[in-house]
Amino acid sequence: MIMGRNGPRRLSIFGSTGSIGKNTLDVVAHLGGLENFEISVLTGNENVGLLAAQARACNAKVAVTASKAHYQALKSELSGSGIAVAAGQSGLMEAAELDVEWVMAAIVGTAGLSPTLAAARKGADIALANKECLVSAGGLFVEAVRRGGGKLLPVDSEHNAIFQVLEENQRHAVERIILTASGGPFRTASIEEMAGVTVETARAHPNWSMGLKISIDSASMFNKALEMIEARHLFGLSPEQIEVIVHPQSVIHSMVGYTDGSVLAQLGAPDMRTAIGYALAHPRRPNLPIERLDFAKLARLDFEAPDEQRFPALRLARLAMTRGGVQGAVLNAAKEVALEAFIAGRLSFLAMADVTETVMDMLIDLPDAATMDDVFAIDKEARQRAAGLIN
Ligand code: NDP
Repeated sequence: MIMGRNGPRRLSIFGSTGSIGKNTLDVVAHLGGLENFEISVLTGNENVGLLAAQARACNAKVAVTASKAHYQALKSELSGSGIAVAAGQSGLMEAAELDVEWVMAAIVGTAGLSPTLAAARKGADIALANKECLVSAGGLFVEAVRRGGGKLLPVDSEHNAIFQVLEENQRHAVERIILTASGGPFRTASIEEMAGVTVETARAHPNWSMGLKISIDSASMFNKALEMIEARHLFGLSPEQIEVIVHPQSVIHSMVGYTDGSVLAQLGAPDMRTAIGYALAHPRRPNLPIERLDFAKLARLDFEAPDEQRFPALRLARLAMTRGGVQGAVLNAAKEVALEAFIAGRLSFLAMADVTETVMDMLIDLPDAATMDDVFAIDKEARQRAAGLIN
């Protein structure tokens, strides 16, 4: 039984209509549903039909669409339900400030930053799926969680794996972490083949079922680049301590190497519900119906060094980490604009890295961000530069 401070544990799920959001609701159902949890807030953007259905099914207190244009539709879907309805950034911010114990941060992109930060400041435990909070706001975000007094629970499968095997009392003996990468759909493609890929081929991840943007980021390995920067902030490591290895089966979700030569790994089926469940039940392990690994059937686990010629995103992550300051925010913002242009058919797959690197070079001398407003200003500047290059 997972109880909160006074009865059922109060949760909010930001991005409930997405891939992580739906999996979170599934985990909640497996861990006792409304007997053990009270759902305060559910949020979505355009998919108001699903948001309303989710809100009714779990008797949420508030449903928020980030899109003001969808407010009326959501309101009429929920009429008579007693569920409060809100919209837009102000709606998200008000919802983020409600008093809850645990928040799933699964809004995609930079849009997730402000509400997650607000929830962290209120002191909720933050189950963090959104990568941008750490990539763009890094130290500021970690500090906000620390001051708020809640726990920071990584949900990204790699970081969740490290969180699971990082021995708290052995932190001084951590030599390196090794993030695994499936290699995506173009692991064995030539650079010529990669030059002409389409959104349809790029979104087809071999092992994981995820949202559109993260699937394409996995194909370009920008997802791994973001994860390297994320890991740096989450675990307080230097860039040299963060390694990436291609592991096509996605069975080892990441590893920690210690000073005695030992390497501890977390293994499991590629199913995000393990990471979500770990974050929800922490510090205990939940009972979940995840496919069990059959090692005889698996037979082998393969590893390859990543090819930074075909996947320059990894080099750019290292560059951003060694340059420091706001280069993570610049990389992320420029990459998002390039990704949107690729999805819209206005930029080639390989040019996403070119645009990102050019913007990083343009904004190399920016001072460090002292406040979140600085982060947003840098994000805006990098987006404008990237858009200028693409148009
Ligand atoms: P999806 O695209 O499936 O879902 C995104 C969610 O964010 C949806 O609820 C969507 O609403 C909402 N949303 C979209 N745009 C906005 C906006 N402008 N403002 C507020 N809300 C918005 O993404 P995923 O669930 O795959 O990923 C969510 C986050 O988790 C991402 O940051 C991703 O990188 C990270 N992550 C995902 C993993 C995965 O396995 N999927 C693994 C690790 C990390 P609607 O659908 O109603 O439009």
